[in-house]
Amino acid sequence: MDKHGLFNDKKTYDVIIVGGGIYGAVIARECSKSGFSTVLLEKDDFCSSTSANSLNVLHGGLRYLQHLNLRRMRRSIYSRRYFQQISPENIDITPFITPLNGWGINGPVIMRIALLVNDLISVDRNMQISRQQHIPGGKVLSRKNLINRLPVFSENKLNGAALWYEAVMNDARHLASKLLDSAIENGAVIMNRTEASELLHQQGKVTGLRCIRQIEDKPVSIKGHIVIDTSGKCSEKLGKSLPAYQPMKQYWSRAVNMQIDKRLFEEYAVGLKYRDNVQDRDARFNSANRHLFFLPNKNGSAIGTFYESENNVDGDLTISQYDRRRYLDAINSVLPAGSINDKNITGWQWGWLPLDDDPANGQLNFAKTSRIRAIEANGEFTGLLEVRSVKFTTAPAVAKDVMKIIKKVTSPKFQV
Ligand SMILES: Cc1cc2nc3c(=O)[nH]c(=O)nc-3n(C[C@H](O)[C@H](O)[C@H](O)COP(=O)(O)OP(=O)(O)OC[C@H]3O[C@@H](n4cnc5c(N)ncnc54)[C@H](O)[C@@H]3O)c2cc1C
Repeated sequence: MDKHGLFNDKKTYDVIIVGGGIYGAVIARECSKSGFSTVLLEKDDFCSSTSANSLNVLHGGLRYLQHLNLRRMRRSIYSRRYFQQISPENIDITPFITPLNGWGINGPVIMRIALLVNDLISVDRNMQISRQQHIPGGKVLSRKNLINRLPVFSENKLNGAALWYEAVMNDARHLASKLLDSAIENGAVIMNRTEASELLHQQGKVTGLRCIRQIEDKPVSIKGHIVIDTSGKCSEKLGKSLPAYQPMKQYWSRAVNMQIDKRLFEEYAVGLKYRDNVQDRDARFNSANRHLFFLPNKNGSAIGTFYESENNVDGDLTISQYDRRRYLDAINSVLPAGSINDKNITGWQWGWLPLDDDPANGQLNFAKTSRIRAIEANGEFTGLLEVRSVKFTTAPAVAKDVMKIIKKVTSPKFQV
């Protein structure tokens, strides 16, 4: 993707965004729509990093009920609607099924209540959404009904299944492209193959950025009042040059999906319980198990997500033979009838996700909320905002928060 808008090296832009992942793209659209002159820089291609490697689920937030985190659910619902409005042609409303057993947290009674509460909390989920994109309510299926739909589970000791619906993107890059086109229509300049290398500042205030454009291979300076760093795991590289900057220790986990050539479940995405090393300390109803999801797609199925702690966050992905074996064992233990082997693997999607704690204890405690850090010196905003993302889905809700901050710190005409 090669996007433009006319760059003017004499102009001082209101906002310079670093990173053309989904967060950069949504924020660029919102800034330009609000009348801020905006430049976005992406060092590779737009939406080619973590954002291109997700499982493509725009979560409605059913899982966050487990944390009683209504705010997170509402932010997910708002954000999903935002994406559905931008790119309905690229989003399928997909039925998700997870089998149920016992009479506790994973049983049909509790799940029926959870699905009902989920529907109530998302009562406005279809507001201003075209009919084909409407998200139906969830329900509990009897064992018989589950087996009619998915005979593969006939051997298992199950007493039904939960059925609910999620919005699933076909192509994250298509979505990002539409957001960036909309930003350009509003006057933004969008540059790929342009790497931000250094923050420019005077007396502790940001004055712009130095960057390297691959096609010119020489530094270019961009003047600007506010820099928003959405560069993901590379965050803090820019901030370090500001005198008052305090780096924050951030731990990361590697997250991996396996792509296979088999379409295991034709119409449904299926979540199956398995045990791993993820610690969900914030869960009020912790069933100690996670779900491994099997999502049908045009190339077969994507299966994930597997997580590992990793120290070398600057490295490229290497999936060792040991990793492959473990992932295949996990898949075959929850779905023996799938008989997945090495030859079925056609690719991997992977990226980094932020953790809240040091994974040295062998457990991964994922960050639950995105973080926006307005860097200050002597109590005054320096002009640098750092955005740490947690989920693709919630980019619009985070962009809304970013806009509130920008409007507050800029001229009175923009104040909220
Ligand atoms: C395997 C996996 C599965 C996932 N599944 C889901 C899911 O189903 N649903 C969901 O909601 N979330 C999911 N996520 C999380 C989601 O993908 C991420 O939270 C989200 O994509 C992060 O977006 P971002 O824009 O912050 O980061 P990125 O997409 O990483 O974008 C940052 C961009 O900044 C660029 N950049 C870096 N440094 C510079 C620089 N100096 N100058 C210019 N550009 C720079 C990078 O090239 C990159 O394009 C998943 C993540 C993984 C890894």
